[in-house]
Amino acid sequence: MMQSLRFEIRGLVQGVGFRPFVCKLAKKHHLQGNVSNTGDGVIIEVEGSFDELKLFSVALSTNPPPLARINHIEIHAQDIKHFEGFEILQSRHLTKSTSIPPDIAVCDACLSEIKDPRNRRFGYYLTNCTDCGPRYSIIETLPYDRALTSMKAFKMCNHCQGEYDNPGNRRYHAQPISCHECGPVLSMVDRELNLIAQGSEVIEKTAQYLKNGAIIAIKGIGGFHLVCDATNEQVVSTLRVRKKRPKKPFAVMFSNMDQLSHYLCTDEKESEYLISKERPIVLIKKRSGTATLASGIAPDIDTIGAMIAYAPIHHLLFDFFASPLVATSANRSDEPIVRDVHELSDRLDGVVDVIVNFNRDILNTVDDSIVQVIQNRSSMLRLGRGYTPFTLKHTTTASLKILAVGGQQKNTIGVAFEDKMILSPHIGDLYTLEGMEYFERTVDTFKHFYDFSPDVIVCDKHPNYVTAQWARNQGVRVITVQHHYAHALACMAEFGLENQVLAFCFDGTGYGDDGNIWGGEVFIADPTHYERIGHLKAFRLLGGENAIKEPKRIALALLFEIYTLEEVQELDLPLLGHFSPQEINSYYKIWQKGINSPLCSSMGRVFDAMASFCDIIHEECYEGETGRRLEELYDSEIKESFDYTVLNGIIDLSPMIRDFIRLLYSKQYTKVATGFINTLVAIIEEFAGLYPDLPIVLSGGVFQNKTLLSLAVNRLESKGRKVYFQQQTPINDGGIALGQLYYTHHFIMKEY
Ligand code: ZN
Ligand code: ZN
Ligand code: FE
Repeated sequence: MMQSLRFEIRGLVQGVGFRPFVCKLAKKHHLQGNVSNTGDGVIIEVEGSFDELKLFSVALSTNPPPLARINHIEIHAQDIKHFEGFEILQSRHLTKSTSIPPDIAVCDACLSEIKDPRNRRFGYYLTNCTDCGPRYSIIETLPYDRALTSMKAFKMCNHCQGEYDNPGNRRYHAQPISCHECGPVLSMVDRELNLIAQGSEVIEKTAQYLKNGAIIAIKGIGGFHLVCDATNEQVVSTLRVRKKRPKKPFAVMFSNMDQLSHYLCTDEKESEYLISKERPIVLIKKRSGTATLASGIAPDIDTIGAMIAYAPIHHLLFDFFASPLVATSANRSDEPIVRDVHELSDRLDGVVDVIVNFNRDILNTVDDSIVQVIQNRSSMLRLGRGYTPFTLKHTTTASLKILAVGGQQKNTIGVAFEDKMILSPHIGDLYTLEGMEYFERTVDTFKHFYDFSPDVIVCDKHPNYVTAQWARNQGVRVITVQHHYAHALACMAEFGLENQVLAFCFDGTGYGDDGNIWGGEVFIADPTHYERIGHLKAFRLLGGENAIKEPKRIALALLFEIYTLEEVQELDLPLLGHFSPQEINSYYKIWQKGINSPLCSSMGRVFDAMASFCDIIHEECYEGETGRRLEELYDSEIKESFDYTVLNGIIDLSPMIRDFIRLLYSKQYTKVATGFINTLVAIIEEFAGLYPDLPIVLSGGVFQNKTLLSLAVNRLESKGRKVYFQQQTPINDGGIALGQLYYTHHFIMKEY
């Protein structure tokens, strides 16, 4: 008996070789019909015998192509249409809500082609296929077709067209394919953009420049990297000077795992992430051995942000260059990554010696993702290339469209419609015009992709965040969510937690409900409510937010909380040597009167103070530095923690400070740093013990601290507690937009 069926499929089914897969499968089962992309997914019409249709249907859902992800299949019977053969139809334009595929590292098949002298793509720096290559970064809009990508400017040669049209070829309907003959061309230009070399010779020339100690901007998938020899101390310090970035670690790119293993120690899980098709940067411990990277790459820190070459151009370069490469995002500190040569000369004038470029535009910039491994699980630190746009599903469907604008630092945005929440790649800090421009561009891109115009915009409660101000100017209903509650919600969103949790939100800063700065919070929370059942005892941030970059000022404020001015002056601590006696006096007055010294309960600031107590950093530091430096001191043999009190939920650390002052006198910094981290774990355990039935959520920037997060998770789990921390979405402010979406979705569901 002949039957005709219509399949409507939604999910990540475009740009992943889904239609060719369907075509092959249909032919295998002798079915007639067609398949087409729509804005909403893929539609298949097939006719054939009942048995073959059944086999087809099973194979479709159980064994799709490697990059595809099916969220939803609907099957309807329809009238027999007497199709002849099976074909792929032109895309239809309907509604737009299909997932946008992320950018994937070059696959093994393509890699062996570019290394094979007999292959016509030998040495072709932009090789890709159905299973690999750029996607999000080159897509203008959906549906995903070459004509709607930045490849539209390049007409395929007969060879490429033949591959594209042949259902048996592994490049069948791969949208961005090209070759030496028809594709974008590599070029090397100097700072004034004068041409130095073109085509394949650029690769060898780049290697020569690197050997001579040059700093080169190389265009990758989602933006430019600044690249130099990672074993050359001199060039690394030149890069620091030119980029005005004194200490913050640089990422390093290795050609393969073999090369990496000479420098770093990886465990199984870390290796798995390093060579995954997403190819994130993974934070990995240095190996003490003969092969060493320039010490300037990650000064005073025992870990390196490492990645394995992911674009064909990287692999080709490593054929001519034997050492690992510094590969840091081309940007001004914490600004968005640079996407074209004009931005390069505007924003990084004088930083690079030469530029390696190609004439395929990056339409959507996307930074490298960063993960670390915690207790054999990933912890996402920056969501970008390979993972974004990142989609999560609700169990319920909302009728309103929501735009979440995130926080102010490490910004990401998110959109939610129907049952989906979609998070953008890392945008960056929004303190500059460039940052804000990229923010607005990303909002536009997302509106465009998903045919989206928000009914509600959700932002942080902080009245001065630029994102909150932007939200209020859009003429749309605005909802606000408290910053640390949003951190907890982000974790709840990732795991779909709908019931009450006990959330520890340890963070840098965020605007509290009482107008003070929060960041050491314990909540009982569900998707629409929270209660602040505990928090760090507030202290004064001397000189306001300016104090954030000066650990010594936080430490001084903590001393003022405990001792009189005379007592403080008597203390013989290294940090006090970083103030003049007059400064201490005037800070005391400021503290006493509370002038420009807001109250703050931030755990991140306590880490800063601890770094100053331990004589590690007193002034200028980059975000997260104090935590990472304290971790270096951590000694797992030391089990002691310090005293603290909890009274009516208020966590007072002054007993701890009194306790360790004597250790500071004898410079026992290891004991102090270790005892401090142990104390935080003890505090978490104490609160957890009060609510034995609640699952535990750990979120906020402070939990980027691997030692603290691992210890807390380990201890709680060994007591049989259920513990959640974000594995796929950023645990820092990059997750705020997701938390905002989760809240608003539930809020709206209740309202209607
Ligand atoms: Zn490939
Ligand atoms: Zn071609
Ligand atoms: Fe935060």
